[in-house]
Amino acid sequence: MSDKHDWQRMEKIVSLCKRRGFIFQSSEIYGGLNGLWDYGPLGVELKRNLKNYWWRVMVHERDDVVGMDGAILMNRAVWRASGHEDTFSDPMVDCRTCKVRVRADQVIEKKGVQQCPNCGGKDLTEPRAFNLMFKTYVGATEDEPSVTYLRPETAQSIFVQFKNIFEVSRKKLPFGIAQIGKAFRNEINPRNFTFRSREFEQMELEYFCRAEEGMKLLDYWLAERLKFYENIGIPREKLHARQVPDKERAFYSKGTYDIEYDFPFGQQELEGVAYRTDYDLLQHQKASGKSLEYFDEETKRKFIPHVVEPSAGVDRTVLALICQAYAEDKALDEKGKMETRVVLRFHPRIAPVKCAVFPLLKNKESLVTKAKEIVDVLRPNMTVFYDESGAIGRRYRRQDEIGTPFGVTVDFETLGEKDRALRDTVTLRDRDSMKQERIAIQDLSAILRERIR
Ligand code: ATP
Repeated sequence: MSDKHDWQRMEKIVSLCKRRGFIFQSSEIYGGLNGLWDYGPLGVELKRNLKNYWWRVMVHERDDVVGMDGAILMNRAVWRASGHEDTFSDPMVDCRTCKVRVRADQVIEKKGVQQCPNCGGKDLTEPRAFNLMFKTYVGATEDEPSVTYLRPETAQSIFVQFKNIFEVSRKKLPFGIAQIGKAFRNEINPRNFTFRSREFEQMELEYFCRAEEGMKLLDYWLAERLKFYENIGIPREKLHARQVPDKERAFYSKGTYDIEYDFPFGQQELEGVAYRTDYDLLQHQKASGKSLEYFDEETKRKFIPHVVEPSAGVDRTVLALICQAYAEDKALDEKGKMETRVVLRFHPRIAPVKCAVFPLLKNKESLVTKAKEIVDVLRPNMTVFYDESGAIGRRYRRQDEIGTPFGVTVDFETLGEKDRALRDTVTLRDRDSMKQERIAIQDLSAILRERIR
């Protein structure tokens, strides 16, 4: 099987996600709803770790970026001004034979005749625009004036709050506003597990600047964003910075890169980094009649700032992290026989559970008490899983499968029964090398904190 489309690997990943509680189909007991997913106990931790790390490097560790959290529903005028109401659509074709609706670019052409990719039927409608926004009504009456949409991207609330945030933050250009939040698109063909969903989360930064800085900042943000993915465990060789050609780019953009990842189902987009010029603020200034200009103290000039936008998908990145982490190797089982080990090699920074704590035996009270004390010491600083059931090898294996990077075992040496010098020490096992080191309990928290930072 080619490395580019490894469906077998993808199937294993999807089944592991369900079996271990990362991702479930939404409304599963009712047959699900296409393109919608729920994150289980481990999935939600993974997702939070990703979002927290993004927020940390994009907002907290910078002087020039602040955050916001906007409403999902906005005045319809926003979507008119941004162009989404008129143009946020894919041209669609209906097959009159099998009734399937497909994107016009997916129609097959054989000997100059257009055919349905599903049934091969030739009776197709003309392409029609299909708006990707979910329409809804605000208030008691379902009439035209109360129409609005679930936001298809988070960026617009940043643009329309630009002036307010700018004034309260007392910053100078270049200056950014970051937001993480839900977005909704009525995708025609949701597919590849969570990759193309109808409800998803975005992590977006709008970085406002002077026109002359735009192109340089586009390159700067591309480099920063590539570094980000490497820092969460995605190797550079699996990432691709694709320069979007003129004909694919939005007309107002002077340059766009797609950051793509080698998924088992092919090379696909994780994030877009786009230099959007002054298009968005200009549109909102024109439509609202409110000035969105910036007054430059140095030059005493007034102008509409330009913007560079790194826009990433939370769900797509979570999927990339799981795909990247999934590995099978060999390890000894309890009886000393080699077996296949499934392991998620998450970077410790984003692993859902950081450390598992095991008493060697569950019916030896002094071991259990000590193990629980360790859990209490670690818990304020990290996610910890306590497990006392089954053979120790099996317990390690369960943690390997969910990607827990560290395992702490409390054994008889911890109690100092054999060698007093080892009293109050534990074994610390590394998930990837499976090597164990002996560590003093009092040093454990600091050592682990350093490794999961
Ligand atoms: P695509 O071409 O794959 O539809 P896009 O270019 O329309 O994506 P953008 O509008 O640039 O996507 O949105 C920014 C980011 O939001 C994307 O890079 C992606 O990570 C995420 N995203 C967009 N649509 C979806 C979706 N349907 N499901 C999950 N994530 C999405």
